[in-house]
Amino acid sequence: MRVIGLTGGIGSGKTTVARLLKELGAVVMDTDKIGHELLEPGGQAYQEVADAFGRQVVEPDGWINRRKLAEVVFDSSSDLAYLNRIMHPLIGDVVRSRMEQYRRQGVEVVVIEAPLLIEARWTSMVDEVWVTVAPEGVVLERLEQGMGLSREEAEARIRSQLAQTERVKHATAVIDTDCSLDELEARVAEQWRQRRFDSRQK
Ligand code: ATP
Repeated sequence: MRVIGLTGGIGSGKTTVARLLKELGAVVMDTDKIGHELLEPGGQAYQEVADAFGRQVVEPDGWINRRKLAEVVFDSSSDLAYLNRIMHPLIGDVVRSRMEQYRRQGVEVVVIEAPLLIEARWTSMVDEVWVTVAPEGVVLERLEQGMGLSREEAEARIRSQLAQTERVKHATAVIDTDCSLDELEARVAEQWRQRRFDSRQK
């Protein structure tokens, strides 16, 4: 089994590339989604996060409001570090146990879609690091049009993240998504073909 860690900055095209890899036959795990599940009532991160961040992030029905949680940690780097110290090891455990399951099932290619692959030091769990990139102007347009962010909000999100140049230093493949979707599909298929992965799409 080969394990690809797929990362990239906000709006750089990770999810789009993950979808294309899935179409080629990979099994995709999304670490954001795993994190969301861990924060649900009864989830393994729920109690610690609810205790740490309290009323301001817990709704009357008991659910953690992730949008409010994101606002709190976006304003405080120490809160963000604290949240990450709770979440990252738990997400890592889930990823490892699912990987084990996929290995037993004979899955050939697993993709771990992880915006924070490098920051969380999950690179040690993967065989390869694929990084999606796009010019900042293109990312800003995607964030403004797709996510409805203002230019200031979009710039703040980009600045809060690891720089693209840093991420690329860890890459075994860099996928430039500043192209048509057809071209992007061809670029992803080419990486797949170079590695001689078995493909569902003949
Ligand atoms: P986020 O970090 O916000 O989850 P992401 O890195 O997963 O973003 P995507 O969601 O894949 O990025 O892409 C962001 C937006 O850009 C989406 O609306 C997507 O449809 C669009 N997009 C990505 N790649 C292309 C492309 N090659 N051509 C046109 N639009 C694209």
